[in-house]
This record gives sequence, C-alpha cells and structure tokens, in this order.
Amino acid sequence: MSDQKITINLEKFASELEKRKTEISDIRASSQQSRDVVELDQSKVGRLSRMDALQSQAMSLESERRRQVELSKIETTLTRLQNGNYGYCLRCDEEIQLKRLELDPTVTLCIDCATKNGND
Ligand SMILES: [Zn+2]
Repeated sequence: MSDQKITINLEKFASELEKRKTEISDIRASSQQSRDVVELDQSKVGRLSRMDALQSQAMSLESERRRQVELSKIETTLTRLQNGNYGYCLRCDEEIQLKRLELDPTVTLCIDCATKNGND
C-alpha cells in the first residue's frame, strides 16, 4: 500500500485522464483527413486557395503537435498514478495542492516550484 498522506481520489483522476486520452485520440483520427487534404488537392486548386489550404494545414499540424504534447503529459501522469508517485512535486517532493491537481491533473510541480520555475 502507498503511504500517501493526501486524500486524492486517484481513481477519479485516472478515469478522467483516460477519458481525455480517448477524446484526443478521436480528434486526432478525425483531423487526420484535414492534414492529408493539401497533398491530394494540389493539382486541382488555384494558388490562393492552395495557400489557404497550406495555412490551415499548418494550423492543423500545430494543433496535432499540441495534442501529442498533451497525450504524453497524460501518459506520464497515468504512470505516476500507477507508481503511487502521483500528487507529489517532482522537484521538492512536497504534496501538490489538491486544488491545483483538480485544475490540471497533469501538473508535476507544486505551486512554489512552479512559480520559481517561471512556467506554471
Ligand atoms: Zn515543489
């Protein structure tokens, strides 16, 4: 058994993270088409609409990059949940405030370290 002192509903966090993971995977699957479309339509569309298409493809790639970052954060968090390390600051090993975890279950630093670090 873990000696976790804080009262965190780990199962709730885990199931929310799994849910979010599924959502992201679904979005990735459905947006795959919009990332492919430029290649397919290159010969058919004019220069301006092609630029539009490239722009929207770039935006779609950027969203995809963000989704990948979020997915890997979720994976890391799920691993921490499984290991019983969840809820502790990676830097100072103090408990992370529950409110902070509820706001973003994937945070890995307590508020003090995050503030010192300059990226919250
Ligand atoms: Zn800390």
